[in-house]
Amino acid sequence: MVQPEEIFKKLISHCKEYGFVFPSSEIYDGLGAVYDYGQYGVELKNNIKKYWWDSMTLLNENVVGIDSAIFMHPTIWKASGHVDAFNDPLIDNKDSKKRYRADVLIEEQIAKYDDKINKEIEKAAKRFGDTFDEQKFCETNPRVLENRAKREELHTRFAKALNDGNLEELRQIILDYEIVCPISGTRNWTEVRQFNLMFSTEVGSTADGAMKIYLRPETAQGIFVNFLNVQKSGRMKIPFGIAQIGKAFRNEIVARQFIFRMREFEQMEMQFFVRPGEELMWFEKWKQTRMRWHKALGLGDKKYRFHDHDKLAHYANAATDIEYEMPFGFKEVEGIHSRTDFDLSSHEKYSGKRIQYFDPELNQSYVPYVIETSIGLDRMFLSILAGSYVEEQLEDGETRVVLRIPPMLAPVKIAVLPLVKKDGLPEKAREIMNHLKFDYPCQYDEKDSIGKRYRRQDAIGTPYCITIDHDTLVDNRVTIRFRDTMEQERVPITDLGSIIADKISMKNLLKQIAEI
Ligand code: ATP
Repeated sequence: MVQPEEIFKKLISHCKEYGFVFPSSEIYDGLGAVYDYGQYGVELKNNIKKYWWDSMTLLNENVVGIDSAIFMHPTIWKASGHVDAFNDPLIDNKDSKKRYRADVLIEEQIAKYDDKINKEIEKAAKRFGDTFDEQKFCETNPRVLENRAKREELHTRFAKALNDGNLEELRQIILDYEIVCPISGTRNWTEVRQFNLMFSTEVGSTADGAMKIYLRPETAQGIFVNFLNVQKSGRMKIPFGIAQIGKAFRNEIVARQFIFRMREFEQMEMQFFVRPGEELMWFEKWKQTRMRWHKALGLGDKKYRFHDHDKLAHYANAATDIEYEMPFGFKEVEGIHSRTDFDLSSHEKYSGKRIQYFDPELNQSYVPYVIETSIGLDRMFLSILAGSYVEEQLEDGETRVVLRIPPMLAPVKIAVLPLVKKDGLPEKAREIMNHLKFDYPCQYDEKDSIGKRYRRQDAIGTPYCITIDHDTLVDNRVTIRFRDTMEQERVPITDLGSIIADKISMKNLLKQIAEI
């Protein structure tokens, strides 16, 4: 069986070969942890954005969008806590000279115990077949019990060290658990130090006294500082939300795993403002709503899980992640946080402006509480590709690589293919395409054999191929081929719209998650 790491490597080269994602500045040997999206990548990304944006602003009358600037007044980052507390605990291996996040090294150790436990369960499930009782097995098997106890012990110690901000203890855990550097294989570690992740630059010329500003590490603050503007100009009543999609920048030190952790990335964030005391109810609601959004894509419900935070950020009173099973394990794709009134109160304090809401029902003013849903667009993109990439063994002994991208998100929806490059077939194909292209992104292709063309479309995830042959000129019928089943059907040209429209309609996707 092909290992997930192997598949991941193949996926990365597939992304490059087929115009989804390129390493940035490649002709200059690249720039670490920065990537460019190619011709199909940008379409997929735009479709994900639209799915998210519409699910927020169309399905919720009380959620509106904004687009705030990346540059902001530097005091904003003081108020938000990022100048003082947006740090990662770093540790260096003295032999390989490689730098790691201490918390990530320990989390990987915890994941090793999970793997061991899962392997025991899998083995036993195979041995016992239908009679297997997983719960009983886990409660009695000595190896599972031992690994569970070890995991729990490490987890408790780790969570305490994080919450106490105890860097020495983080290092001690790494030593006690004999965690080695994956490159040098040694345990020759430095102390753990804190490292601020914000990029800074200057605005204005030095002669005028330039001001140091930061590239925003999250889009959320642009929403908070516009809270009053939107609330007043839109006459918004609490509860209401503000959504935003935009770039964020973090000087990530351990930037591996392709577009999972980048230095320049995109976030889709929504801040939902509520009455104090009602935040945990809304937190639960948004948790469920957001999970529905993910699962509606049909990549498999088992691939998602919630992961509650061990350490709450300085602003939060509840937090969970939605994790997706990437080829390198379950990883955070989205964070849902109950941010209390931390941000608005802090901006009140630092700006000296009153940032409150008068609640006509309660007849009182207060600083609203906030529930945040924050999803990384690039991570979402990666989860979709990882969940879609399949290498299939076909009956004729051939293999095909197919991206089973949910049809509503596919970059190209329809490929229009004349069987041969003559006899009026290209003209007929163009005629059909000219008709379809206003509703669906189409691609015309007449080069190579039809089989090769099908493979090319499979590789970019096109859900439908339409082939125009000599009979088409007589009977106005075409062959439609379905990406996932490879089945082919002969249908009248006039039926194409109705066959395709439903399957690729964003509306149907939105209806699945709407609470009507
Ligand atoms: P991590 O623990 O992986 O560093 P985080 O908890 O710091 O992530 P948040 O600050 O909650 O992340 O950001 C919200 C979302 O933004 C994340 O769920 C993730 O999808 C995305 N994100 C954060 N950092 C990056 C990055 N460096 N590259 C790509 N996406 C990112």
